[in-house]
Amino acid sequence: MNDCLFCKIIAGVIPSKKVYEDESVYAFYDIAPQAPVHILVIPKTHIASADEVTDETASLVAAVFTAIPKIAKIAGLENGYRVITNIGEDGCQSVKHLHFHVLGGKKLSENMA
Ligand code: AMP
Repeated sequence: MNDCLFCKIIAGVIPSKKVYEDESVYAFYDIAPQAPVHILVIPKTHIASADEVTDETASLVAAVFTAIPKIAKIAGLENGYRVITNIGEDGCQSVKHLHFHVLGGKKLSENMA
């Protein structure tokens, strides 16, 4: 087991509130929600960030984006939502395992930064 927090969540070593799972994707509620609905969607394979995606791992990102509409439906986000991924220092990425924030449940701010 590597030292990655999200790899430990996928393995069940650290508990999470699961929303969705398939063979290559795991989704769970963020522990510090920044919107009424705040879900993290991650590939089960460790990729450090979106900046590390390669031709070999692009299909895992496609699997995440195939799962996101299903996850939004499960979470009741019929009126829309936002998907964000933070990358590196300037992007304020705190967990170095590729993850997509799915935010919704209210009209979100127009500000992106
Ligand atoms: P980022 O800042 O983009 O790297 O996002 C990391 C996210 O992981 C933050 O929104 C945290 O609140 C969330 N987070 C950290 N630890 C946990 C945990 N154990 N369970 C659920 N979410 C977590």
